[in-house]
Amino acid sequence: MPVREPDFLNPSCLRRAVLLALGSLAAATTAQAAIGLSLGDLPGLPLERPQAVVAVANPYGAEAGAQVLEKGGNAIDAAVAIAYALNVVEPQSAGIGGGGFMMIHHAASGRTFYIDSREKAPAGATPSMFVGVANASLQGVAVGVPGMVRGTALALDRFGRMPLHKVLQPAISLADRGFKATPRYVEASCNPRARNSPESEAFFCPGGVAPAVGSLVRNEALADTLRLIARNGPDCFYRYIPSKGCDIAKGVVEGQKWGQGGSMTLADLQDYRPALRDPVQATYRGYVIKAMSPPSSGGLTLLQMLKMLERFPIGDAAAGYGFGSVKTANVMAEAMRIAFADRSVWMGDADFVPVPSKGLLAQPYTDTRSLAIVPGQRQVTNPVADDPRPYQFAGVEVGKRLAVAEPVTGPGETTTHFAVADRWGNFVSYTNTIESSHGIGVFAGYKRPDGSFRNHGFLLNNELTDFNIVPSINPFTGGPGYNDVQPGKRPRSSMTPTMIFDAKGRPVLAYGSPGGSTIINSVLNVTLNLIDHGMELQQAINAPRLSVTSTSSSVTVEAALPQATVDGLKALGYSVGVADIGAVQGVGIDYKTGRYYGGADARREGTVITLPRSKPLLGWLGDLLKP
Ligand code: GLU
Repeated sequence: MPVREPDFLNPSCLRRAVLLALGSLAAATTAQAAIGLSLGDLPGLPLERPQAVVAVANPYGAEAGAQVLEKGGNAIDAAVAIAYALNVVEPQSAGIGGGGFMMIHHAASGRTFYIDSREKAPAGATPSMFVGVANASLQGVAVGVPGMVRGTALALDRFGRMPLHKVLQPAISLADRGFKATPRYVEASCNPRARNSPESEAFFCPGGVAPAVGSLVRNEALADTLRLIARNGPDCFYRYIPSKGCDIAKGVVEGQKWGQGGSMTLADLQDYRPALRDPVQATYRGYVIKAMSPPSSGGLTLLQMLKMLERFPIGDAAAGYGFGSVKTANVMAEAMRIAFADRSVWMGDADFVPVPSKGLLAQPYTDTRSLAIVPGQRQVTNPVADDPRPYQFAGVEVGKRLAVAEPVTGPGETTTHFAVADRWGNFVSYTNTIESSHGIGVFAGYKRPDGSFRNHGFLLNNELTDFNIVPSINPFTGGPGYNDVQPGKRPRSSMTPTMIFDAKGRPVLAYGSPGGSTIINSVLNVTLNLIDHGMELQQAINAPRLSVTSTSSSVTVEAALPQATVDGLKALGYSVGVADIGAVQGVGIDYKTGRYYGGADARREGTVITLPRSKPLLGWLGDLLKP
């Protein structure tokens, strides 16, 4: 097997990663020129030859997916392989200790849906369980019942072509043989979250020192855990079956007793079930946009913003709009403020609370909401939630209003988004997370009778801090806040795996981002870049973003946004902060040529592999699928 070092480890690439200047840099990926969208030019030719593409925030994850596709797997098989591989190489972001949303466009049935593997609150959870808990996101009480293992198993059972043990192989190989620490892995390794528990600190930051870039990282404990799952199936994660060596569930339950411990029991794990959900959808300038429904707020908030913005000629520079203009930034910021006001009141887990999804997206409702957006002005009084229920159900009384601000969270190291398309026309758009960097910073595991630590090698999530930390009142219903903790409920998410469909109903693009509540805005930015500004996919991802995640007029922009725009926003009265926002990966198809494309984000270690490939990206790793 020819030995070839991955590009991102050579010094010039390293410098590039460190000196990353957003928007001005071609992504550190193998992305090819990619598609821009225009309704007129998608006539739809059949695929000329088998092709596939993966876009992942990490090169090893991309390689895992590519190898599965090359071995005959479909996009669903590849997505599951990527999710597991990322648990090894990007453990700070996602893994089997957490959950996510896997959006699938299934070519054979023409259906688009989600597998919701979002974590759930345990049966013993209470609305006030976080009250008075210091640093709640680093305590066991923040751990939700993990969903990834049953979620991915469901995806494979229903829609995959390969068995679980096969798609787990790349992850097992990476954990067993090791991978070379990437700059991003190293950068995160000694952050305070990674060092929250002695076992996690010893693994990520031994002796207070992060591993060197390029040094070999092995995680034998995780390899063992994955082998247990490969051999015994997903129940080996969710049930304590000592006769089969299945003790992972015990490790999760014991692990979440860390610090201020949670109430999770073996029964909570055993009872966990993923859900199949329909997306929420709306049209925007002739395209159909489908995105994640509750328990995520992502889809509803994104679509509300698009519907409020559609009346403005966002792409028209002659009218003073166009990419990066003050006018465009102004109307985007106002739409975000309004949508986040509604989000704070009306969005939560619809299995528990009556989220008025239809009302929130009803044209008369979003038209009314959009009236508050006046180009050249900033809403001086912060917008408050309105009542969409009359647009959904007749005769509901409108109560008093309350604006709830969303804390601003940067992209940090959290969460990961990737996308896959295969030769059969299946698309996957998958956002997966353990919430904050390194979750609660505690590995699943337990003390053996001899005092040694049985380590399962994966980090436990802190997803439950996505609930309201303090019990609240819905100002319209007078009942508990829609995102208050309830037993068995899923915390409100912002994850927004999204797909764009053309007027013929064909999937054109699948994309999404990490970044807490900024996720929704990253997806909005990229959507406008593609549809209004006519950018190609990679360009749309590279372009500097803008985000407001509360009702206030504090705007966050990326450094590469023109200074004149920043000055223009300040002149309108906005306060403007600068930070990186999100890390978008996407794949798409150009029906004119039948070609697949991918775009990945240089803000992280985004990698695109298109198949058939001309050269192996990580040939030195060998065949990851071989045990
Ligand atoms: N837990 C977050 C959510 O579901 C995602 C975390 C992040 O991307 O930072 O919205």
